[in-house]
Amino acid sequence: MKKHNFSAGPSILAEEVKENTAKAVQDLNGIGLSVMEISHRGKDFQAVMDETVALFRELLDIPANYHVLFLGGGASLQFCMVPFNLMKNKAAYLETGTWAKKAIKEAKAFGEVDVVGSSADKNFNYIPKGFTIPTDADYFHITTNNTIFGTEIHEDYDSPVPMVADMSSDIFARPVDISKYGIIYGGAQKNLGPAGATFVIIRDDILGKVDRHIPTMLDYKTHIDKESMFNTPPCLPIYACLETLRWLKKLGGVKVMQQMNQEKAALLYDEIDRNALFVGTAEKDSRSLMNICFVMNDKYQDLEKEFLEFATSKGMVGIKGHRSVGGFRASTYNAMPKESVEALIGVMQEFEKKHA
Ligand SMILES: *Cc1c(COP(=O)(O)O)cnc(C)c1O
Repeated sequence: MKKHNFSAGPSILAEEVKENTAKAVQDLNGIGLSVMEISHRGKDFQAVMDETVALFRELLDIPANYHVLFLGGGASLQFCMVPFNLMKNKAAYLETGTWAKKAIKEAKAFGEVDVVGSSADKNFNYIPKGFTIPTDADYFHITTNNTIFGTEIHEDYDSPVPMVADMSSDIFARPVDISKYGIIYGGAQKNLGPAGATFVIIRDDILGKVDRHIPTMLDYKTHIDKESMFNTPPCLPIYACLETLRWLKKLGGVKVMQQMNQEKAALLYDEIDRNALFVGTAEKDSRSLMNICFVMNDKYQDLEKEFLEFATSKGMVGIKGHRSVGGFRASTYNAMPKESVEALIGVMQEFEKKHA
């Protein structure tokens, strides 16, 4: 049976990304060696790294005064690297979910954290509005897509201080005005590739302002100076990211991706709003195009387990909601075809016929 992969992360990759990566695992570009068994400093892997960075720049329209890095440690290490490198006294954070809270926790070890807005009062089902970013903060940190709660910031804020964004789960899902950010980072395993690679887009003029000693590996400057080759980068995950970027470019780039994401999300949200059995958890203007969260309507609470089993029997994978929200979460990342969203909608309608 065809599997429809709605997993939140690690998550769906395009078929040709998997096929081409599998080929490179056997033999990279016909050189007779696997991408896993060659020097990261040799010309064959250097070409992989160079093309990956070049496609990042091209597809996201990254200005020349930014660097693109590939590191280890996941987005979670960035929660610590950001304050380590940027915080003198105080930083501002927008608290929009579990990942934002984890970033805040790390920052507190380095100075004062000003939580300028929070949606904790409603279990993070909306993006706060009307908050003020203090001009004496060293930076302002946001999480653009809240993978667990299904909310998303759909604009690039104006910030009086360098803006830092965790874009783990919506990078390449829409055009971004990079010039409004000081740092954008994320783990690859949501919208870009397999787990293991962490991307960082950084404007270098924001560095060099703190006095503390920064361990070599945690210092962005190390990785900028050595172009992500200070130590061995995650070569195979980076190769798979390259294949995703090639695929994305072939489909027409980030704008086309955004249209497709809007279309897929609209289909599923329309069904959630129409279907008597289900109700969406995020406030409408904060709804994520990447992670679509819904629960059983009050009257049908006791059908939750049955729907999960029913959907699973029809090939739906990874739709169980995170335990902090409950219900269901369908992740509709870039690589998710519209057909899979339609298949899920079909399952929801079939289940409705049985019960409503
Ligand atoms: C998954 C996720 C993380 C955690 O990423 P790791 O690479 O596992 O550290 C952080 N932030 C967001 C928004 C995520 O979706």
